[in-house]
Amino acid sequence: MQTAEVVIIGGGIVGSSIAYHLAAAGCTDILVIERETAQGKGSTCKSMGGVRAQFSTPVNIQMSLYSIPFYADFDERLGHPAGYRPQGYLFCATHEKHLAYLRTNYLKQVAMGLKEVQLITADEIRNRFPQLRAYKEKLYELGATWAAMSGSGSTIVGAFPDVSSRDAARSAFPGVRTETAEVLGGESRDASRSRATRE
Ligand SMILES: Cc1cc2nc3c(=O)[nH]c(=O)nc-3n(C[C@H](O)[C@H](O)[C@H](O)COP(=O)(O)OP(=O)(O)OC[C@H]3O[C@@H](n4cnc5c(N)ncnc54)[C@H](O)[C@@H]3O)c2cc1C
Repeated sequence: MQTAEVVIIGGGIVGSSIAYHLAAAGCTDILVIERETAQGKGSTCKSMGGVRAQFSTPVNIQMSLYSIPFYADFDERLGHPAGYRPQGYLFCATHEKHLAYLRTNYLKQVAMGLKEVQLITADEIRNRFPQLRAYKEKLYELGATWAAMSGSGSTIVGAFPDVSSRDAARSAFPGVRTETAEVLGGESRDASRSRATRE
């Protein structure tokens, strides 16, 4: 029977990131159990790779304050391309209610330490983003929030799972092991066998 100090069930971006960060913090006995044939085949591979800090909940804002600078250094730090491009995120209000929602979130984001987010007027949207006219004139009517360091990471979604499985194989992160199995009722079983049993 295999044992480990830390067992992580699921090798998507969250499980892989936890494995990476625990290993980086010195944990030397981590097992990642993934039921698919490779890591990152769940929600992670379906994601568009959008990266932003314009969230409404403190926990999401806080995670972004950590993860966006982390993604900016990802390639150098981990030797794997994350494809992070800070092309910015613009949320345009098309109703007064929506503008009030964006303003409330903006105040929350600033209070939590997000420096780059701005609340911009309808005129500023028009001046900075004239190309939106072709899309919808309505986007210029009220105002928006803009954050230049938000953007996208075309390969971020695969990068962590790749790094953690590759590095586990190479032992560059000593202590991270991966296993293809499914955890059912507290037990780890061969994923292909448990799938066959359920069909
Ligand atoms: C269409 C779409 C677009 C998205 N776009 C964005 C975006 O632009 N920006 C953004 O930030 N987020 C986006 N998301 C959300 C983002 O993809 C998820 O928040 C993120 O991938 C969740 O990661 P996860 O590791 O928690 O889950 P997952 O990637 O689903 O990983 C969970 C893993 O656990 C495994 N697992 C589950 N149960 C067991 C078990 N019993 N035993 C063994 N293994 C198990 C699964 O096989 C899976 O690999 C999008 C999501 C979708 C669907």
